[in-house]
Amino acid sequence: MMNSAEIRNSFLEFFRSKGHEVVKSSSLIPRHDPTLLFTNAGMVQFKSVFLGEEKRPYTRAVTCQKCMRAGGKHSDLENVGHTARHHTFFEMLGNFSFGDYFKKEAIRFAWELLTEWYKLPKDRLWVSVYREDDEAEKLWTEVTDISSDKIVRLGAKDNFWQMGDTGPCGPCSEIIIDQGDDVGCGKPDCRVGCDCDRYLELWNLVFMQFNRDELGNLTPLPKPSIDTGMGLERITAVLQGKRNNFDTDLFTPIISAVESISGISYGKNAETDISIRVIADHIRAIAFLLSDGLIPSNDGRGYVLRRIIRRASRHAKLLGLEGAVLYRLIAPVTDSMGKVYPELIQENDRASKVLMIEEERFSKTLEQGMRILDNLIDGLRKQGKNTIPGDELFKLYDTYGFPLDLARDIAMDKHLLIDEDGFNREMEIQKERARASWVGEESAIAAIYKELQSEIGETVFVGYDALESESIIK
Ligand code: ATP
Ligand code: MG
Ligand code: MG
Ligand code: MG
Repeated sequence: MMNSAEIRNSFLEFFRSKGHEVVKSSSLIPRHDPTLLFTNAGMVQFKSVFLGEEKRPYTRAVTCQKCMRAGGKHSDLENVGHTARHHTFFEMLGNFSFGDYFKKEAIRFAWELLTEWYKLPKDRLWVSVYREDDEAEKLWTEVTDISSDKIVRLGAKDNFWQMGDTGPCGPCSEIIIDQGDDVGCGKPDCRVGCDCDRYLELWNLVFMQFNRDELGNLTPLPKPSIDTGMGLERITAVLQGKRNNFDTDLFTPIISAVESISGISYGKNAETDISIRVIADHIRAIAFLLSDGLIPSNDGRGYVLRRIIRRASRHAKLLGLEGAVLYRLIAPVTDSMGKVYPELIQENDRASKVLMIEEERFSKTLEQGMRILDNLIDGLRKQGKNTIPGDELFKLYDTYGFPLDLARDIAMDKHLLIDEDGFNREMEIQKERARASWVGEESAIAAIYKELQSEIGETVFVGYDALESESIIK
């Protein structure tokens, strides 16, 4: 059985053998791209190449790209821990053609890798094509031996890919594996395209043909290109015979660390399992974002990081952990992934410190807020109500600093609604006052991080600025 490192390397090696340049992952923080919160796919670092604005010395590339899907387009934050296949941070394996090969070769390569190198059973593989893409359907039957009843046509939701509201995009074709009817929702109409985990989407082949501008207009790219993405965690799960990404060797060391700091075993209780998975997922996101130089703040990218930390902290509390604890999980992430991503090793100490400060700072608020909210929910339940009132949520936020996002998460877990309009009305009324108090707190914490930075020293990455495409195959 291949371990995840071997799977990652064999993907790169396969495409290297097909004339692709092995290019390093870029940062999770897209440079010079304010339209995008985080790098959410392998193609992000090649956006300007697809648009024809930039030339590279190669026309075929292969990467294993660090990705974040939390906040912004394609956010999977709420799915994490509940589905078997979604993460906030994940690694995307991808091959790219910049005006070189197009659909035919992309389909042929993918099929060869999956069925000949990885030896996936052909009778469990399905493919979807964009409803209007006759050409792709025809190619699947011509260049592979997939049976034609395993090819389905789907609409734009599944089979038209775009990075964000603007940028390169195109119709796509996805490769799906049927995990069997004992996995997933079990509904009679469960089929390819169902949101459950049975028909697991492994790989998306995007036929890059257009650029979408601010007005939504599509213009053809200078040359049709290929952009593909396959989640390393998903292909690893399949190849390791697991039904859940969290059961692969990418997560087991981290889950073990969560078990040992909490004293709670994984796989014993559905509720604590969700918390363990959320923490295992979020700690990877936190470690990778911090090691890419992001710090928690009250807006933009920094706020998404803060939100992830707070969600993880809440789940740590649900496991009965007190005070700052998550920072102790940075090291296990570094230990298991530092070889592939050396920035984790370089930034390990600073990341742990920043996380510890952030946790300590929020710990009391969290404890207090969770207690108040629990009481509130008990009260509502007794009255047979299912919506948490906006003014109560606002009071929690304004008086105790308890964020609405977290209240929303809690409500969702408990199958309750929140009165967000009511919250916003209260917010409007007290806007000035609220703003004044946040600014005060924000500048205080910014000073702490600044101090820490000067104490530990400024770390500047130059790696991402270089266009060198160093091999990461060992
Ligand atoms: P899904 O439908 O399962 O949410 P997607 O269609 O949103 O996936 P794509 O945007 O096509 O995903 O991304 C390409 C590939 O990246 C997917 O086929 C999958 O293997 C992987 N992937 C996407 N989102 C995630 C995630 N949140 N966590 C782990 N892997 C992911
Ligand atoms: Mg998705
Ligand atoms: Mg999909
Ligand atoms: Mg997809």
